[in-house]
Amino acid sequence: MPKHPITTGKVIIAGAGPGDPELLTVKAARYLQQADVVLVDRLVSEQVLVQYVKPGAEIISVGKQCRRGLSTPQETINELMVEYALRGKLVLRLKGGDVSIFSNVLDELQALKAADIRYEIIPGVTAALGAAAYAGIPLTARDHSTAVRFLTFYRNEVIDELYWKELAATNDTLVFYMSSETLDGVVGNLVKNGIGADKLLAVVEQATTPLQQVQVTNLYEYAQNWTGKTFVSPALVIIGRVVGLHEQFAWIANSQSSESYFKPVAKLFTASTVIATEKVTQHVSRA
Ligand code: SAH
Repeated sequence: MPKHPITTGKVIIAGAGPGDPELLTVKAARYLQQADVVLVDRLVSEQVLVQYVKPGAEIISVGKQCRRGLSTPQETINELMVEYALRGKLVLRLKGGDVSIFSNVLDELQALKAADIRYEIIPGVTAALGAAAYAGIPLTARDHSTAVRFLTFYRNEVIDELYWKELAATNDTLVFYMSSETLDGVVGNLVKNGIGADKLLAVVEQATTPLQQVQVTNLYEYAQNWTGKTFVSPALVIIGRVVGLHEQFAWIANSQSSESYFKPVAKLFTASTVIATEKVTQHVSRA
């Protein structure tokens, strides 16, 4: 028997919700209070960390921000989770929104399985649900839509011609993640395929944060008014007849500021430097 038996830790993969720190689940908050190490995405409110992380815990930001060419490699994130768990730590892997919507959770689960590390998964409020609630756009409102689809068009290959035709024809509400920069393409494809003129498009920037802004346009006026428009990140696109309900049911005024709620990814580091030095600067200032 070794003198100090090593007990393997555990990894909690949790969603933090889309922005408003109060949308964190009670369960995620409880684990945040217990965790020794928190590996956190960029699109997580700093308030969540300030409020719940216990003193002395390590907070490591492992954000990805492809637009700025600053992305923590997935491999690094996997290594950090595994390495800390093997050292007996309780690791909280905190992701923006929900864990399973447009995230790399599969890679992380595979890394944990391969290393035989125990884990739990805690869901979070995904951006589509946060944006829908805070913009007053019920996604499957009766008589407007019977279903909702979560999509992305961050690369051309992800949606082919046949699928665009289908998307233009359906009455399902369409929600596009990671697509505000390719919005001209989204609208162009839907218009080309004859999407109904009764459907509107909303872009919800920084949903659920105090800096939220909702902008709505008619798809057939988009080319004239919106082509080339840029949006504050993160932004979510909602298309469908339900978007028309925003005007009547909005309950939050648009922010007048175009500041960013989420801090940009500051710098990157590799797993080996973090673990070798065991000295991780806390990226968050505590209140
Ligand atoms: N797992 C996350 C999504 C990660 S993909 C979730 O469940 O919400 C990142 C994309 O999510 C962004 O490009 C944006 O389209 C959307 N997003 C995340 N947070 C958002 C927010 N507060 N407001 C608007 N869109 C958001």
